[in-house]
Amino acid sequence: MAAQTLTEKILARHSGKNSVEPGENIWVDVDILMTHDVCGPGTIGVFHQNFGRDAKVWNKEKVVIIPDHYIFTADKMANRNVDVLRAFVKEQGLPHFYDVGSERYKGVCHIALPEEGHTRPGEILLGTDSHTCTAGAFGEFATGIGNTDAGFVMGTGKTWLKVPPTLRFVFNGDLPPYLMAKDLILAVIGDIGCDGATYQAMEFDGDGVYALNIEERMTLCNMAIEAGGKNGIIAADQKTIDFVKSRDKASKPFVVEKSDAGARFAREFVYDVKSLRPVVAKPHSPDNRAYVDECKGTKLDRAYIGSCTGGKMTDFRAAAKILAGKEVKIDTFVVPATTEVARTLKTEKLGGKTLEEIFLNAGAKIGEASCAACLGGPSDTFGRLNQAIRCISTTNRNFPGRMGHKQAEVFLASPLTVAASALTGQITDPREYVS
Ligand code: SF4
Repeated sequence: MAAQTLTEKILARHSGKNSVEPGENIWVDVDILMTHDVCGPGTIGVFHQNFGRDAKVWNKEKVVIIPDHYIFTADKMANRNVDVLRAFVKEQGLPHFYDVGSERYKGVCHIALPEEGHTRPGEILLGTDSHTCTAGAFGEFATGIGNTDAGFVMGTGKTWLKVPPTLRFVFNGDLPPYLMAKDLILAVIGDIGCDGATYQAMEFDGDGVYALNIEERMTLCNMAIEAGGKNGIIAADQKTIDFVKSRDKASKPFVVEKSDAGARFAREFVYDVKSLRPVVAKPHSPDNRAYVDECKGTKLDRAYIGSCTGGKMTDFRAAAKILAGKEVKIDTFVVPATTEVARTLKTEKLGGKTLEEIFLNAGAKIGEASCAACLGGPSDTFGRLNQAIRCISTTNRNFPGRMGHKQAEVFLASPLTVAASALTGQITDPREYVS
């Protein structure tokens, strides 16, 4: 049997084959299907239309529903979407629903999934959201699908996939304190472009990757889609296994795999982490890469720290390190990805102050756990860019209108760079604060 990549091994096992080839079309069994308030109603509509008004989902334990996008708004259509989810959950008796306004409410789906034990090595996780690839950080095949495919998965537990070829990105060396996973992935996307990995698996490897904590690995995989990747993936190690076991209340068994020696990679890219510099993606594309020292001094109106890419505890610890005891010069919005992150901001301390105190004392505003302004949303969304202003953000996309106003400009950067820039009101190199 030919040597296989990690992605090929997972897909082969889920299609009942010993091995698969890139380009081969296969049917696979799905382990988890996730949907949220934006695409859930459409998925449910497709499911009912094709399987019947009285149909039941293929496996209640495997469907996870997480409202997170347009949540804290007076917008009637957005609220109606959540009502559609509620009615469906009731109709189907689904146990994994994290309803807004309830004790179970979580926030951003891609961070909620691992926190609640829905991510495991070796599995296939599909979601109606392009950043579902985040879960590849747990050594599984995770990708976003449309409502039509999701409606079909809901009814059958299966989907049809073309096996992607795999690109391998090797990071050697430990990350210097002024760099984060966000810098690494923006550097990669800048190198290969927004279509550089179209329908290919992006496997991240090397001691630089395994030195990262789980949240930073999630940031790497999260942005695979910004290069067109079918999935991002990192083979599970002991850190992954410990995290997964600590979260999965059901203790479901899982399979840990890695790419075979001699596996065929379509291309390999090697980075020496120590030689990299802090990176931004300039408006209006994640591949519009520039080094921070090249656009230093660019005037800003707003800073935003949040989202599935940049709203985890690792992101806030980094930002707090820079903001502690100082004051921001521009409007600065802090949005925890999940309610668990929000609670931890209230308890975890740095220099005798909680992270929440550090942000509030610095003059930042803190919103409720959700996607908030990452995807614009209704005009009353916390942190939304309602005017043609310039923002530096820890989010993952900066297409025109992504965070609200179509003429607004968004620079993507690491939480360190965003925090340093919030202090000066212009793009600022985090090396001025962290060396
Ligand atoms: S935080 Fe942003 S990128 Fe992440 S799921 Fe929400 S809208 Fe999408």
